[in-house]
Formats: sequence, structure tokens, C-alpha cells
Amino acid sequence: MENWEKLCKMPYKQIKEMQDRKLRAFIGNQIYLYSPRYSALMKERKIDPFKIKGIEDLKYLPFTYKWDIAPTDEEPQKHKDFIIRPDEEVTEKYGHLAKMSMTGGKAMVEERVYDFKPVHMHFTTGRTAMPTPFVYSKRDLENLRESGYRLLNVFGVTPDDVTINCFPFAPHLAFWQTYFAGDKMNMPVYHSGGGKIVGTRSLMDAFEYLRPTVAVFIPGYCYYFLREAVKQGRDFSSVKKIFFGGERVPPGLKEKIKELFTELGASDVMVLATYGMTEAKVAWGECPSHNEYFGYHIYPDMEVFEIVDPESGEPVGEGEDGEIVYTALDWRGTCVLRYRTGDVAKGGILFEPCPNCGRTVPRISSNIQRKSEFKEFSMTKVKGTLVNLNNFFPLLMSHPEVEEWQVEMKKRNDDPFDLDEIYLYVAAKQGVDQEKLAADLKQKILRDTEVSLTGLVFRTVPELVKQLGMETELKEKRIVDNRPK
Ligand SMILES: [Zn+2]
Repeated sequence: MENWEKLCKMPYKQIKEMQDRKLRAFIGNQIYLYSPRYSALMKERKIDPFKIKGIEDLKYLPFTYKWDIAPTDEEPQKHKDFIIRPDEEVTEKYGHLAKMSMTGGKAMVEERVYDFKPVHMHFTTGRTAMPTPFVYSKRDLENLRESGYRLLNVFGVTPDDVTINCFPFAPHLAFWQTYFAGDKMNMPVYHSGGGKIVGTRSLMDAFEYLRPTVAVFIPGYCYYFLREAVKQGRDFSSVKKIFFGGERVPPGLKEKIKELFTELGASDVMVLATYGMTEAKVAWGECPSHNEYFGYHIYPDMEVFEIVDPESGEPVGEGEDGEIVYTALDWRGTCVLRYRTGDVAKGGILFEPCPNCGRTVPRISSNIQRKSEFKEFSMTKVKGTLVNLNNFFPLLMSHPEVEEWQVEMKKRNDDPFDLDEIYLYVAAKQGVDQEKLAADLKQKILRDTEVSLTGLVFRTVPELVKQLGMETELKEKRIVDNRPK
């Protein structure tokens, strides 16, 4: 990997040359030889690895989709075909470590183990597909540490900051990216495990006792946590920055979070988003600003991004809208090429130096419509029409009169052959006219999701918090599909 500070000043032309060079080496020396899936695919389609001279030539490779990797009942071990594996199953010539120790000695074996042996893994959080493991070698963990350092560097965090990590303990990127980031930045971090592990009250105590300058959260839980803290009259005046991960952050929610912090004694808290995915094995940070959006700074020595037309798959121009396509560069462990994320970036990718911080590494637009979280049923057939459930998030998360909410889909009379029903449960802010709010929500939901609700039910905040599993689930249950499969 390259030196980050140097990379951030490198003109884009040079960055691209570096990417071309790394891609040639990666395809030729790793993917073609040791990735069972891509090796077979290239042989089958007669793709000469030496034909791929630079990132423009990625187009010769087909796209990889989520379902290509996810385990199925028939092929539970499918994910192994995406691991760079110079072992005896894949190649006799280079595989056998025992043989290698005879010719190359102990040092060579150790190097191979460092490079290739899987030692860490994360799982995807698909809701209907089986979770897919993505493995890291020790060499990959160095990349994870470095990417964490870079993310914090973009956010302007230094070793003098004190951080509380409120992500739940889980085999997921969000928690471990934060863990390794703190480690590499050499800063004090309390990895609390969030309310689910230490309890919301103790977590609040920790905020008052440790006086953190930075906190890392899942947005839904953060919003709940801060409201509770306001009720208890807590003092969180030390906090300067909040990072979110795990799901997207609508602008309206950013405002609500800032207001709550003001009530807790912290003025001008910066609310920052990260973008990451299990498949890419790292997360990227948004260039920090209070009111403007400059995009996520990416790591061009670790990955290549293409932005393509979601329909045709053809690349679009700089700054144009399109689906984000990810290709691993210089990784070991699980590696995917031309992975269709399903996420659409409004404003695509930008190669010009960042007007906010001056870094020259490319940026992906801040306006990402993350489809991947709910992809499995984002286009669910409810009442015979296709519904984009994602549209509930920005609408309800940002609504000034809504405190908590949940969407439930079920069958009428619980009869699998009967009609689909869709219910919205809402806890309104205190003093809100419920009748007016209900009318407003029904109309806006029809506008944004094209579905008319079967019913809108008002609940109290504690009732909904329990229903959402706010303190018991890894991630709160915002959209529940209770229809029989
Ligand atoms: Zn920037």
C-alpha cells in the first residue's frame, strides 16, 4: 500500500497510473493464478490476463453480483471460490507449504502465511440471503488498520481525541473497522458494545466520565440514546464529532442529532457519515463540513470504483449519476471484481482535487441511495405493486414530528392466500396533533412509496422502542415482513 499523505497530494494522472500498474500485477499474479472463481471464469471466456493493462480494461470482465457469492443450500461453500488461495486444491506448483519449506526455508513459509492465511472474517448482513463470510489474511488486516487510520485522518481525528465506540460487538465491518482504526491511530477508545452490551444507562455514564470528543454510532440507536440523555439532563459537552455507520443518514436526521447535542451542552457537533460494505472490506469517510457535502474520500491503492448505468452496465462520465461498482486492488483473502453494489451515487465519482480539504484522492458523492441494506425485499410486491421500502427511511427519519417508527407487512387474517397489508406504527413528538400528523404521513407515503397504508397506529415511545428491539437487537427492526414465505 502507498503512503497516505503522499497519495493525498498525488495528481490524479499519477494516481491512475499507479492503479493501472497495481491492477495489472493483481490480475496477473494473484487473481488469474489463485482465485478459483475468476481464474475459471477467465479461462472459460478466454480472457487473456495480459489483456488487462489498466482500469479501462476492467470492462472485459463480467460483473459480480451478490447472489454469485452468497451461499445456497446446494452450494454452501461458494464463498471459498472468491478467496485468493495458493493452496493444493487450486495449484499444485505453489501450494504445498511443506514442500516450500524444503526449497524456500522458514522465512518464505512465514511470508506466505502472512500473505494468504485467513485469520479474521466479517459476515454480510443479508436479511433473506444467508450471511456470506469475507476473510482477511494478516496482510489484509494491515489494510484494514490503514484504512481506519485514513478514515479518521479525513475526519480530522488525532491521537489526542478520546472515542467511545457504540457499535454492537458483531462480526461486522462497522465494529472492527472502528477497532482497528483506533489501534492504528494510537488513540484511546472505549469499545463499549453499545446499549445492547453495557446498557444505555452505563453508556451515558461513560460519556460523562470519559469525556469523549468523538463517538461512533448506528444512527437509529444514537437518536434514541440522545433523547434519553436529554430526559435525564446529562452533560455530553465534551463531544465534538459523531460518526455514523451501518446505515445511511438522511440530512433531516443530522439536524435532529445536532439539536439534541445542543441540549446536552455540546454546540456545533459535526455529524459525519461513513460509507462501507463487507464486500470491499473497508469503509470510507465523508469530507467533514457542517453544511456542505463534499463526498467520501476513497483509497485508490486499495480499490477501483466504476460508476455505471444501472440498466445497461455501461460506464458513465465523471460526476454523472450511476451505480457504484467495486473492484478489489492488491488484497488477499476474499476478493471480488466488478462487484455491483446496488448503491446509486447521485453525482457519481469526482477526480478533481477536493475543494474542502485539497486531497487529490477521488471522491464518491455523499448522496448515495443505499439499496443494499434492504435489497432482498426493496422491491417487494405489496398489494400487487412494487414498493421501494427504502423510501420510508428518509421520510420518517427526517420528519420533525416523528420520534420513532416501524413498518410492518403482513397478510390479512394471517392467511397466506389473502391480501397483503402494510401498517405504520408511529410514536409522535410530545404535543403533536396526531390527526394532522396521520393525514400528513399518509399523503407523503403515498407520494414517496406509491403505497397506501392499510393502517397507521400510534404507539408510545417505550412501546415502539421495545417493538424495534432498540436495546436488544444488533440493529433495530425498522421494516418487518411478517408475511409467510
Ligand atoms: Zn476533502
